[in-house]
Amino acid sequence: MADYDAVVVGSGVNSLACAALLARGGWRVCVLERNDWLGGAIHTTELTVPGYRHDVFSAWHPLWVGGAAHAELGAELAERGLEYLNTDLPTATAFPDGGAAFLLRDATGNAAEIGPEWPGVLERFLPNADLAFGVLGTELWSPSGLGFAAKAFRRLGRGGLAVFAGELLQTSRDWLEQTFASERAHGLLAPWVLHTGLGPDAAASGFMTQVIAVAVQEGGMPVPRGGGAMLAEALVRLIRDRDGVCETGKDVERVLVRGSTSPCPSPRAGTATSGSAGRRSCTSRPASTASPAR
Ligand SMILES: Cc1cc2nc3c(=O)[nH]c(=O)nc-3n(C[C@H](O)[C@H](O)[C@H](O)COP(=O)(O)OP(=O)(O)OC[C@H]3O[C@@H](n4cnc5c(N)ncnc54)[C@H](O)[C@@H]3O)c2cc1C
Repeated sequence: MADYDAVVVGSGVNSLACAALLARGGWRVCVLERNDWLGGAIHTTELTVPGYRHDVFSAWHPLWVGGAAHAELGAELAERGLEYLNTDLPTATAFPDGGAAFLLRDATGNAAEIGPEWPGVLERFLPNADLAFGVLGTELWSPSGLGFAAKAFRRLGRGGLAVFAGELLQTSRDWLEQTFASERAHGLLAPWVLHTGLGPDAAASGFMTQVIAVAVQEGGMPVPRGGGAMLAEALVRLIRDRDGVCETGKDVERVLVRGSTSPCPSPRAGTATSGSAGRRSCTSRPASTASPAR
């Protein structure tokens, strides 16, 4: 198999974004995916009637659109067919009495919709939004985690940091009940924490409820025209345009480093193996795999 500057195992959106950024930086990258499609949990396909494309897993991309990789790559992805559609009515809950509550894309509308407490939530959350999203986007037990902690300490001081950490750990049920008088606010926001895989009584679920509520207000609910796979397809085009390789049907077992006496440990999906100290070549199943087609 050919040598690459980086072998990326798996083709989820994190892998593709990583590969695209490396490829733009001049690295020769190879993405290997065991499935027969590229995109991981982003997969759009005709499941029912021919011509009707369904998103099988992920469809809505507010966190991607609000994130650093999209800020960096968005223009080049748009040139490769990615277009985001949005709405002024991103999410709502219907109630048994026939009423409904909407989370809107403006703060005034949301105060009217879910309660006068909403502006106070924004006042507390927005000045430290970078810290809130930093908690989610930083590997905490790492040098960058240490840098993040130092930044939070400089900003908040010891007492403020303790309050921030305490609020971070609050459950969704406690946060909603202590913050909003209206049960409609609870009914509107509580389901979203389940979407993150946390229950309403899980530690940090209150923090996740806030993150999602603010993210939805600020970013809406962007969805790619043509389905979620348009994001994966545009990333793959970008990688290939930069001389990279993306292959399906390749189940990676190990990555070999030339000159090394032992193979790297089995990689986790999304692992990018960089070639600064030595170029990498990769072994994948089936063992008969030849050099990937370009
Ligand atoms: C049902 C569902 C709905 C979702 N809806 C949304 C949504 O609407 N909006 C949203 O923002 N997020 C949503 N998510 C979450 C989102 O899909 C994930 O956060 C995101 O796709 C994770 O991307 P990833 O790159 O980390 O990994 P994944 O997308 O999980 O991709 C990992 C890939 O690596 C491959 N792989 C693993 N090991 C190997 C190996 N050894 N060799 C080769 N390939 C390997 C796997 O086959 C897979 O394709 C949803 C998730 C699910 C499951």
